Amino acid sequence: MTAASIEFVEVGPRDGLQNESTPIATADKLELIARAIGAGARRIEVTSFVNPKKVPQLADAEEVCAGLPDRQDVTFIGLVMNGRGAERAIATGRINQLGAVAVATDRFAMANQGQTRDGSVDAASEIIAMAKKAGLTGQVTIGASFGCPFEGEVQEDVVVAMARRLAAAGPVEVALADTIGVANPAHVRSLVTRVREAISPLPVRVHFHNTRNTGLANVWAAVEAGATVVDASLGGLGGCPFAPGAAGNVPSEDVVYMLERAGIATGMDLGKLVEASHWLAGVMGRKLPGMVAQAPAFPAAA
Ligand code: ZN
Repeated sequence: MTAASIEFVEVGPRDGLQNESTPIATADKLELIARAIGAGARRIEVTSFVNPKKVPQLADAEEVCAGLPDRQDVTFIGLVMNGRGAERAIATGRINQLGAVAVATDRFAMANQGQTRDGSVDAASEIIAMAKKAGLTGQVTIGASFGCPFEGEVQEDVVVAMARRLAAAGPVEVALADTIGVANPAHVRSLVTRVREAISPLPVRVHFHNTRNTGLANVWAAVEAGATVVDASLGGLGGCPFAPGAAGNVPSEDVVYMLERAGIATGMDLGKLVEASHWLAGVMGRKLPGMVAQAPAFPAAA
């Protein structure tokens, strides 16, 4: 079932930066986006239209959008949690795709967006409908698909049923997110297979956090099980307020190294990603979790 290529989605500008307490300049966010495009990214989650009081780091969503390069070949994704956020994203005129989030458990859905699980499915479906009405596309992510910080284990049947309902709203794909980084490859293989069968021909996207160092193994298991779209964050930046710890998203450069070396095309230029990761470490003023950027190039450049 393993595809010959996957579609890569850079989420660093949003998921990567969201939980950074030090404000990052809008110009640096735009440089991060430009570098991701330069490295080959054609889908980028650029910001989130949430309450700036709740996520001060993304309070410049409109400014980031105003500074986006004029690239018809790049899909700029704006994450939104509700109709108000969707209206803001659409009003920028620069966002191509709305990203909606449904959450697999009631308690996490309540903490994350003040809704029940079913309420989050309804809200995400409405956001997808708003996107389509405005001439945009919509995508949806099922948060806490592999485990919940409040309720613990999440039953696969629950996630499969949610994916079916969300697919009916007409997104470009349905994503399974390991929001708190508890998934393991066997679980990933099983759930990706079941959701893929449930929503076919819609693609499955995966979103992994490396909180417990299983992130890359989970990406591999997901791709083997037929996931064809993979989220990653440059340098491995990104955390979750409900999952304290150093590690963030799976690092873009580590994902690209692994897949390309295994013969799965990503459309990304690893050398440029590594350069961008070094640049980002300078902006952040610290070493980033990604490992490929810290290792010698292999095979060595000619
Ligand atoms: Zn995430």
